[in-house]
Amino acid sequence: MADLNLFNALKTPCGSSTGFARRTMMPFAALLLLVFTLAAVILVKTAHDQNDQARDRSLFFAEKALKIRQDKLQQSIGDYAFWGDAYQNLHVHIDLEWAYTRGNVGATLFENFGYEGVFVVAPGNRTVYAMIDGQLQPTEIQQWLQGDVTELLEEAKARAADEQSVVKVFQVAGRPALVVAASLTPGTDPSVRKVPGPPSVLLFVDVLRPDKLLSLGQDYALTQLRVARDEEDAALEPSLSIPTADESSFLLRWDPVRPGSPLLTFLLPVLGIAGLIIGALSWLVMRHAMATARLLDDSYASLVVSEARFQDIAQASSDWLWETDAEQRFRYLSGRFEEITGHSPEVWLGRPLSDFLKFESDSLASWVTDPKIKASPYTPLPCSYQSASGKYCLCNLVVRAISSPADLHGYRGTARDITAELENRARIQQLQQYDALTGLPNRKHLQERLETRIKSEHNSSIAVLNISLEQFKHVNDSFGLSVGDQVLVELSHRLEGFLRTEDLLARHAGDEFIVLLDGGFALNEYIEGLCSRLIECVERPFWVVHQQVFISARIGIAISHKDKDATHDLLRSAEIALYRARRQIKSKWCFFTPEIDRQISEEKQLESDLYFAISNDQLCLHFQPRYRTSDRHLSGVEALVRWQHPQRGLLSPGDFIVLAEQSGLIIPLGGWVLRQACIQAMSFPEPIFVSVNLSPKQFRTPGLVAQVQNILDESGLPAARLELEITESMMFEDAEGALATLNELKALGIRMSMDDFGTGYSSLSYLHRYPFDILKIDRSFTARLDDAEGGLAVVLAIVWLGHALSMQVTAEGVESEEQLSLLNDMGCDEVQGFHLSRPISMEQLCALLTQAHTNTIET
Ligand code: C2E
Ligand code: CA
Ligand code: CA
Repeated sequence: MADLNLFNALKTPCGSSTGFARRTMMPFAALLLLVFTLAAVILVKTAHDQNDQARDRSLFFAEKALKIRQDKLQQSIGDYAFWGDAYQNLHVHIDLEWAYTRGNVGATLFENFGYEGVFVVAPGNRTVYAMIDGQLQPTEIQQWLQGDVTELLEEAKARAADEQSVVKVFQVAGRPALVVAASLTPGTDPSVRKVPGPPSVLLFVDVLRPDKLLSLGQDYALTQLRVARDEEDAALEPSLSIPTADESSFLLRWDPVRPGSPLLTFLLPVLGIAGLIIGALSWLVMRHAMATARLLDDSYASLVVSEARFQDIAQASSDWLWETDAEQRFRYLSGRFEEITGHSPEVWLGRPLSDFLKFESDSLASWVTDPKIKASPYTPLPCSYQSASGKYCLCNLVVRAISSPADLHGYRGTARDITAELENRARIQQLQQYDALTGLPNRKHLQERLETRIKSEHNSSIAVLNISLEQFKHVNDSFGLSVGDQVLVELSHRLEGFLRTEDLLARHAGDEFIVLLDGGFALNEYIEGLCSRLIECVERPFWVVHQQVFISARIGIAISHKDKDATHDLLRSAEIALYRARRQIKSKWCFFTPEIDRQISEEKQLESDLYFAISNDQLCLHFQPRYRTSDRHLSGVEALVRWQHPQRGLLSPGDFIVLAEQSGLIIPLGGWVLRQACIQAMSFPEPIFVSVNLSPKQFRTPGLVAQVQNILDESGLPAARLELEITESMMFEDAEGALATLNELKALGIRMSMDDFGTGYSSLSYLHRYPFDILKIDRSFTARLDDAEGGLAVVLAIVWLGHALSMQVTAEGVESEEQLSLLNDMGCDEVQGFHLSRPISMEQLCALLTQAHTNTIET
């Protein structure tokens, strides 16, 4: 991309800016360091040179001073030694008075010239005149002066002819002393005659005392000129060694003048500080340069990263990116453009954007400058285009103007294709609102429709019909889910055929449909007729995969009047009505009424109470005795359940058995009764039989036979003492299954009785096939025994029928002695009824049995 070249241009030719800065700055720093080091070296060298020169100069002066001192000494002795008077008075003969007292060679030599010793040594090296520190003293020169003066004397004598003196250094009391010697000669005095023989020698001794050295030093700018104080002082410079006559030496020392030192002590620190300051400044400059370079590098790197990121995003994004010039002609299209639209970017680059995208706004300029868009710049501009394959597509543009304060350079932005999104949204909406299988509106749709309808100003009433299929689970289980699905689809078509356009049919749940009738129906009559037709249409056989499938339905109906019911109330009311419709026998539909609601609530309350009662000892058994008709012998008892309800008192089976049957609670309840009956029968004083009622649902429960066997085993009751009562209705639903269960129960050794005979629809063929032992005549027939309209004949026919089928016959509901005697006359085997005994408690029964036993014994 062109921009990338720009970034490359930013990069230095030799790599990163940091590297460049480092390479440039390092030699500079090195040069700077070199300059300062050189300056320091030159400074030190100059200082040292100056110091050296000063030292050499001082050495020269020291030597010079000594030399001048010697010269002066020689000059001074010349004035005395080559003098005729001195020759006369100190050589020819010794005249102390002339020499010392008259001061010709006297104390002035000490006082004015500072010569500590003045000696005259006669031939034979005898000291003939000695003045020490201006005092005449009879001292041998050799005693006062350390070192052998013989050589000096000989040299002085040797030079007598040309009147020259000789100087040597000796020691006096450990101090250096310049000793000058000259032979005494007549000099230029013609009056004095030279005596033969060797001459006497005059010696002046100039002891270099510290004060003399100091003042000598001052004359020659030698500070503190001295004899080296000790070894340490002797080791220092500058110094001048003075050999002595006895081949030892003295070392003269003076404090050096160091003109270079101030140079070092002043200039070097200045140079150092300057170096430090310049170094610090350079370091700062360098650091700044490095930081700038690093920033440059970083920004270059981030520009590269940013460009790569842009490329990645442009490729990864589902949007395509675009840019136009100020005239809105495409000048950039991202790679995704071709993938999404199918068009080649080459074809469109340079062409106006409006040729490709159609939108409502006049132009991009007016869109971008619209105040509303300015306030919310991410607002997409909806537009459409035609893809390369010719499909009309929709997309959303987000637009930005590329501008500087003065000019507009173009526009750029993103384009998001929303065609698929919109299609998906429509599909999702369809799925959200409609049932996938039948295509009918679903529960959500129904609720929305109902809400809108209830809120509307429409004044007419609406009705909700909840159609619930029966045995549909059986269809699924027996024929498979796909058959079930086909039945549902076919059924939805059938149901739709009954509805008007303003009505709505929805699939509410798996096997529940709801019809919404929107006003205009002629109240209940119309709905009743519709329900009848709907049930009929459901019950019409379905042909699926060459099979006939039958189902049925129940309908719960709720009608609302404006403002009275909310949506959920209406749907709930229809459900309550359906609940009732499912439990009622005479009609397959039911209209909701508040009374039904109340009843159902009560039932539900009772149901939950009963559930609690079973496991909390609220149930108990009463026993109603059965007697042999012929001798009124108590042959057995029928176990009848009672419920000691905490609030309602003792409840009879009529109050809760149906409920238990409908709710399924009959299974645990029946199990409890069977177990208790067997257990309690074991405590009876007499081994009479106990008869237990089995409800239809209980009878159909798989595992019943095993349960009975278990209870017998647990309680220890012999099977022969147990009788089970079932009603005719049990045979209707599954005749073959019922027969099998009956046979299995009988095989355990249990007796089976047909209860309430005559109230159901027993056919003779059933009676014939089913192995009942006992036939119990329903009490309604017993009650009509004394009825003039053939009540007796009916009972008699039943007794005969029972006997004909080898069954024992028991009459229920015997309430009078007449009925009892008629039954006895007919040959009815057993009787049961209030006339003989009401159902009684366990204690009462025990008492009765004990009594009966006693009576028998007594008779
Ligand atoms: P059912 O099996 O026909 O029981 C006999 C019912 O008739 C008992 O009512 C009893 O009290 C009543 N009865 C007996 N003699 C007379 C009489 O002379 N005149 C009149 N009017 N009635 C008499 P109960 O105990 O209220 O039981 C009602 C029904 O409840 C029973 O009718 C039975 O179908 C059912 N039932 C009772 N206990 C159980 C049980 O443990 N399991 C099942 N599944 N059903 C039971
Ligand atoms: Ca019974
Ligand atoms: Ca009965």
